[in-house]
Amino acid sequence: MIDLRSDTVTRPSKAMLEKMMAAPTGDDVYGDDPTVNELQAYAAKISGKEAALFLPTGTQANLVALLSHCERGEEYIVGQLAHNYLYEAGGAAVLGSIQPQPIEANQDGSLPLDKVAAKIKPDDIHFARTKLLSLENTHNGKVLPREYLQQAWEFTRKHNLALHVDGARIFNAVVAYDCQLEEIVRYCDSFTICLSKGLGTPVGSLLVGSHDYIKRATRWRKMVGGGMRQAGILAAAGLYALENNVQRLREDHENAHWLAGELREIGVDVTRQDTNMVFVRVPVEQAESLGKYMRERGVLMSAGPITRLVTHLDVSREQLAEVVSHWRAFTQQ
Ligand SMILES: *Cc1c(COP(=O)(O)O)cnc(C)c1O
Repeated sequence: MIDLRSDTVTRPSKAMLEKMMAAPTGDDVYGDDPTVNELQAYAAKISGKEAALFLPTGTQANLVALLSHCERGEEYIVGQLAHNYLYEAGGAAVLGSIQPQPIEANQDGSLPLDKVAAKIKPDDIHFARTKLLSLENTHNGKVLPREYLQQAWEFTRKHNLALHVDGARIFNAVVAYDCQLEEIVRYCDSFTICLSKGLGTPVGSLLVGSHDYIKRATRWRKMVGGGMRQAGILAAAGLYALENNVQRLREDHENAHWLAGELREIGVDVTRQDTNMVFVRVPVEQAESLGKYMRERGVLMSAGPITRLVTHLDVSREQLAEVVSHWRAFTQQ
């Protein structure tokens, strides 16, 4: 199957599996797993931050991130379409009694700082206490403008807010900026990394921040059930991914760019392509039949009026050419 639904669908490669099988392990709840410790130390080092924590999922990493910044009755300002507002089942509110204050993002995925400022609550018993600004980079494939990162950082320093970045796909931003991770995450207090998207591991995420912050996060991780035991076999996949699969994200971006161009050539209404994502407008009455037509030919996509196609390490240029040729046949029938 050619699976364009998401970059989460990648399978561990043989080389990655070999690293996993050879990984020394221990009980990570006791802090004894050498491979988890190595991954966390490595993530902290390449980030220029003090510490990192390995968690099973990006959703849990974001939840623990919010719980470690905000207490009950406190608030985070976040985008209406942000993963840690919209796509995490309301976890911060449900499990943390943390109030989200969502606002509309700009076209480029940044949150307008004047609108953020207007939502910061004064110190008044009527209001929740505003504690945190949460950004997402990349956001639906969009790389936040590089100069915005520093602006948002300075803004939060001035307003006494913490700054968290949901960096599920932060390495897609790193290769798009053509910079080092450290050069962008210096502009946040904490951030997450998903190892199981374009980086290609079967599971795992990281939360990165200061030593004290990660200490709080470790307690929250235990409380929400994310303390794993011989997790080194999973951490080994993460180490492999960080060492081998970062720079190759460029290929995914190039493939997405190529796919967008080819689809436009055959008259498909491509609305945008950013990093490894292509968005296509499909006539409502055709969305279902397109999905079925493709599935019958071994192509999986989340077909809808706006169809998102995601490139990743398990889909090659040749396979994308196949997709284009099926799509052409579909439009000509
Ligand atoms: C995928 C994703 C997450 C976390 O997802 P999990 O499936 O829980 O690992 C968080 N934020 C963003 C922006 C994502 O794309």
